[in-house]
Amino acid sequence: MRRIAIINQKGGVGKTTTAVNLAAAIAGAGQRVCLVDLDPQAHASAHVGAGPDGRSPSVYSMLTQGVAWSRVRRPVETNLEVVPAELNLAAAEVELSGVVGRELILRDLIHAEPDACDVLIMDCGPSLGVLTLNALAAATEVIIPLQPHFLALHGLAKLFETTGLVTRRLNPGLRVSAVVLTLCDANTRLAQEVITDLSAFLERARTTNTPWSQARLMGSRIRRNIKLAECPSFGRSIFAYAPTSHGAEDYARLAHEVLALVPPVLAGSTEPNRLDVAKPTSGLVVGV
Ligand code: ADP
Ligand code: MG
Repeated sequence: MRRIAIINQKGGVGKTTTAVNLAAAIAGAGQRVCLVDLDPQAHASAHVGAGPDGRSPSVYSMLTQGVAWSRVRRPVETNLEVVPAELNLAAAEVELSGVVGRELILRDLIHAEPDACDVLIMDCGPSLGVLTLNALAAATEVIIPLQPHFLALHGLAKLFETTGLVTRRLNPGLRVSAVVLTLCDANTRLAQEVITDLSAFLERARTTNTPWSQARLMGSRIRRNIKLAECPSFGRSIFAYAPTSHGAEDYARLAHEVLALVPPVLAGSTEPNRLDVAKPTSGLVVGV
């Protein structure tokens, strides 16, 4: 099972939009996907029509009561299930503060059901608290949505360092697999500068022993598209809401690219290391 955490400590950069629409696109491509909402704002849950109702079990039940993953997954579309968040989730941080191994609760519950889906996608909130740490401990890879603007790289370097810390302390197999440019305005000079700097930064990392040494800048960029901003309020993915929009086109292309990525080496894992059969080319995929 591929387990992808969508993270960025900045809010409003397109994490939730990417988690939901990437999940829907991969489900549309025939893989069984589970979307886990780890943000107390529960935007991803609402986006797929499973917003908090105050009754249904949620990821909060998993983290605070150890409720099994199978008991909280809900089908929302063909091939797509969601583990919703709830507003209480904000309290989990405090409730778990005295619990030994609190960062590993989600990982253990997911490991208990290894065949539950093909791809797990975790939407994280904008902080690096216990919820995001649970996602990073459970993940095999990280995908970072990045809005190309001034100082974007500064934040990214910090985020990379955080994943470095997590690989050392919690999850040695974790890798940053991709950076995705989101909310892109048509070919601005600023976007071009960010792309040039980011490409150089990632290229320099190739020879390092870091979790981001194989990170790719995805060629599919997510354009700013009003349909993407509209569809959450209808509780539908972009593919159900506006299948011919630029937003649907961009996320379908991104899903294709993500599925083509060679899964990261899973240090200490019993999962097959497919790098043996398909060594990735080192080149960056930038722009189309
Ligand atoms: P995050 O999860 O990082 O806080 P969101 O995915 O919620 O970010 O996006 C922030 C806001 O921008 C939301 O209102 C969302 O609908 C909108 N949005 C995200 N991506 C796009 C896009 N490509 N085009 C237009 N609006 C977008
Ligand atoms: Mg969000």
